[in-house]
Amino acid sequence: MPTKFFELTQAELADWFKKNNIPAFQAEHAFRGLYAKPVLGWQGLTTLPKNLRPVLEAEIPARIPRPVQVQSSQDGTQKILSALDDAQTIESVWIPTRNRMTVCVSTQVGCKLNCKFCQTGQGGFFRNLDTAEIVGQLVGQSAKPTHIVFMGMGEPLDNLEALSKAIDVIHEPLGLGLGWRRMTISTVGLIPQMQTLSDRYPAINWAISLHSMDDTTRTKIMPINKKYSINQVVDAAGALFRRTSRRVSFEWVCLKDVNDRDEDLRSLVTLLAGEPGFHLNLLPYHPTTSSLFKSSSMERIRFIERQLVTQRCHVSVRESRGLDIDSACGQLRVREIQSAL
Ligand code: SAH
Repeated sequence: MPTKFFELTQAELADWFKKNNIPAFQAEHAFRGLYAKPVLGWQGLTTLPKNLRPVLEAEIPARIPRPVQVQSSQDGTQKILSALDDAQTIESVWIPTRNRMTVCVSTQVGCKLNCKFCQTGQGGFFRNLDTAEIVGQLVGQSAKPTHIVFMGMGEPLDNLEALSKAIDVIHEPLGLGLGWRRMTISTVGLIPQMQTLSDRYPAINWAISLHSMDDTTRTKIMPINKKYSINQVVDAAGALFRRTSRRVSFEWVCLKDVNDRDEDLRSLVTLLAGEPGFHLNLLPYHPTTSSLFKSSSMERIRFIERQLVTQRCHVSVRESRGLDIDSACGQLRVREIQSAL
């Protein structure tokens, strides 16, 4: 198996060059050039000797996931469905805001966790992405990412080593050059993996999918709760905050009559009131193809937000981007697969 360019740090590429008697400064050129113009590949690197380029193309291919469908929303959000070398497809979302370009990337084809409200979760698991497939989602567009959220298809912490290496590669100054503080990992709360990664990258941001504070309800909608109960997840979040001094975000997809009731609001107040280390993100739910769930109304979501604010809780409503496209996790992929049937 050849080494893939987008899974290498600059030092690893320089090592490979050294071993093959290519001057080390060429690694610097390659890093700058291939990240700036990845579509041209090694052929576009005119600083390299002509006869070397096809060799590198074969030994260290710089291929990136190939966009097969792009949906553009009126708010500027772009959702890209890309094909991998084995023809599996993944989704990435580019979300421009005033002074940011946030990219939401996938870490797996499918997902093992089977969350009942999630399109990807309902489709089962196919395979992990490798590091180059994760990093490759961030290049090849005219814009440059300023922030990255590992919130696309899959559970990032269920693909820990590829994710961790991707974080290292994304951090490389001559490549994408993003600091840890600009990256956010979203997880259902796989506790041991959270500890491992926060030890490696104390400055990285965490978003933990809570969705309910009551074990019975959470187990029904998120089967992983049988393994890591809500109290364990919340304790782990507290420990993250104490260790890193970085505020932890909780995600709460607002599902009508499931987790937006008065009793849910009370349990959120207990969790968050006066707690400096936690922030709650309320998310409107995007119904899926076979949805058993309805989103809470926007009025109800705003009501919950107001109540929490008056109780001294850090809370925000995540603006729903790209509502006119199939923007929720896994929805574009499903549409593509269905239309192919
Ligand atoms: N597996 C990780 C990351 C991927 S999902 C996790 O669960 O955190 C990213 C976020 O989108 C999670 O909070 C998830 O619960 C939420 N989500 C999934 N399907 C959704 C939908 N149809 N509408 C709104 N949010 C959704």
